[in-house]
Amino acid sequence: MNVQQLLELEAAGWEICSHSVTHPGLPFLPLTYADETPAAPNSAERELEMSKIGFNDLGLNVQNFVVPGSSWNDDLATLSARYYNSAASGGKYGNTLPLENRWWIRRKGVGTSHSVSDITAWIEQEINDNKWLILIFHAIIETEDLGYEPWSETKLAELATWVEDQGISVVTQQRGLELSVFSYKDLLHTPVQPCRIVDTRLAGGAIPPSGIRSYNVYGAVASQGGNPAGCPSPKGEPLSVALNVTAVPLGNGNIVAYPFGSAVPTASLVNYRSDAQNIANGATVKTCFNCTKDINIKSNYGTAHVVIDVLGYYYAKP
Ligand SMILES: [Zn+2]
Repeated sequence: MNVQQLLELEAAGWEICSHSVTHPGLPFLPLTYADETPAAPNSAERELEMSKIGFNDLGLNVQNFVVPGSSWNDDLATLSARYYNSAASGGKYGNTLPLENRWWIRRKGVGTSHSVSDITAWIEQEINDNKWLILIFHAIIETEDLGYEPWSETKLAELATWVEDQGISVVTQQRGLELSVFSYKDLLHTPVQPCRIVDTRLAGGAIPPSGIRSYNVYGAVASQGGNPAGCPSPKGEPLSVALNVTAVPLGNGNIVAYPFGSAVPTASLVNYRSDAQNIANGATVKTCFNCTKDINIKSNYGTAHVVIDVLGYYYAKP
């Protein structure tokens, strides 16, 4: 395929994603430019940025990344945010609505052994679970005897017809990203009676320096030291939560609150000193949607007990 054909595909509504320059195992490279050495002069950051620059220089609007060999980690996911709107890696699953982590979008590979009905069953399952699915096809060829995991043109045509007949929308990675995060733009707040969800004095003990605890923000919270009767969320799983976070200091430090499964932010929520009384602060914290836990609480530098009350929940607009 030549550059002119890529430009024509893009003009016709297809999206060209970056896939690195040399298709390396990115976790095995130095992470950033600053980590490069004469012996290891090619960093993952160079692979990420240079492939984007290369495409842009050809006139292609490349905004999203597809991970080579589906070899990925949290550091790379964080790094890719410098250059891309999203990164898609491997996996056996669909993606949640709204999306959990746009720098770790899941894709599912189609192999030669898979029939059309295998794929339609996958798609139906994901729709039932309120998820969306990215399929990886490696080689589309009639005879299935060339390339990696080839799939026949006839099967693809049959699948495409089925998808169209079902009225299932097929979109680019960029459009999928926009559709699956849009509900965060416009949340509705539902205040609730303040309800205790965490008290480390009752469960878990004080959080030590650099300690991270993961919590749920609604439902059964007694095991976290919260209200024995639980804290009901009036409209089901929230996308964000209004909290009052109190530190009971046993040293000097600060408390950070952030979504479960996300990178630790640098901004602290409560700064505490051992010579002070209990210190509280209010915050709106995004929650991890469709995850085993909702939020993480980290104590930096010092040890503190933490008490958290929920004051309200945020939901997507119906
Ligand atoms: Zn590849």
